[in-house]
Amino acid sequence: LVSRKKHPENTIVEVKGERIGDGKQYFVMGPCAVESYEQVAAVAEAVKKQGLKLLRGGAYKPRTSPYDFQGLGVEGLKILKRIADEFDLAVISEIVTPADIEIALDYIDVIQIGARNMQNFELLKAAGQVNKPILLKRGLAATIEEFINAAEYIMSRGNSQIILCERGIRTYERATRNTLDISAVPILKKETHLPVFVDVTHSTGRRDLLIPCAKAALAIGADGIMAEVHPDPAVALSDSAQQMDIAQFNEFMEEVRAFQQQL
Ligand code: PEP
Ligand code: MN
Repeated sequence: LVSRKKHPENTIVEVKGERIGDGKQYFVMGPCAVESYEQVAAVAEAVKKQGLKLLRGGAYKPRTSPYDFQGLGVEGLKILKRIADEFDLAVISEIVTPADIEIALDYIDVIQIGARNMQNFELLKAAGQVNKPILLKRGLAATIEEFINAAEYIMSRGNSQIILCERGIRTYERATRNTLDISAVPILKKETHLPVFVDVTHSTGRRDLLIPCAKAALAIGADGIMAEVHPDPAVALSDSAQQMDIAQFNEFMEEVRAFQQQL
């Protein structure tokens, strides 16, 4: 179902009037985790000022250590809903368990399935049964074929509103948190008819690489970029080393937009 051979036209994912996959390149920016209303509102205001429409923020955080901040759960979803309404933004947030898919429908505009759950087949099936766009991230060590099959799980249950997101894969290289597989973008565009985003934050894990990697992703044909922005990354409850502050975010947008003009 996801194969371009069977369905040559691009799938357009509609989110609050935005048409993702239709040529315009989108930016999904926001904090790693929802920590408070004030924290998300500060980022939402900056996102709005940049003329962007898509805001991210995790309410359920799949953390490597059980002792790290696990997210605010449904309270976080409620904060996102309030922000979406107040700032007229569309919000993207990760759901980690099939039981929460239904709950999420009332609060968020795009359900994210994270790298750690790319092959959580029950979660994929649940995501396939709802009428809500899904942003599916590539697994930590998933091949492109496995990634495409994960999308197929969702689509086979009836939901074709899927955005694929390359977020880096695990290799022997330690200079970056993961290795950004930039060639996955044209491969996924060729093999499937789905929009493809690149998460520059989780792939690199390095603030100094966000701009060059975003440029590379846009140049190679990504439909969108995801990156993390926090009003004060130093005190962030997760991913504090890699999130941009508001000034860095504005700089990022300026540089990346200037680059887009040259494409
Ligand atoms: C995230 O986007 O919040 C996240 C946890 O990313 P990933 O699943 O790609 O690690
Ligand atoms: Mn993060």
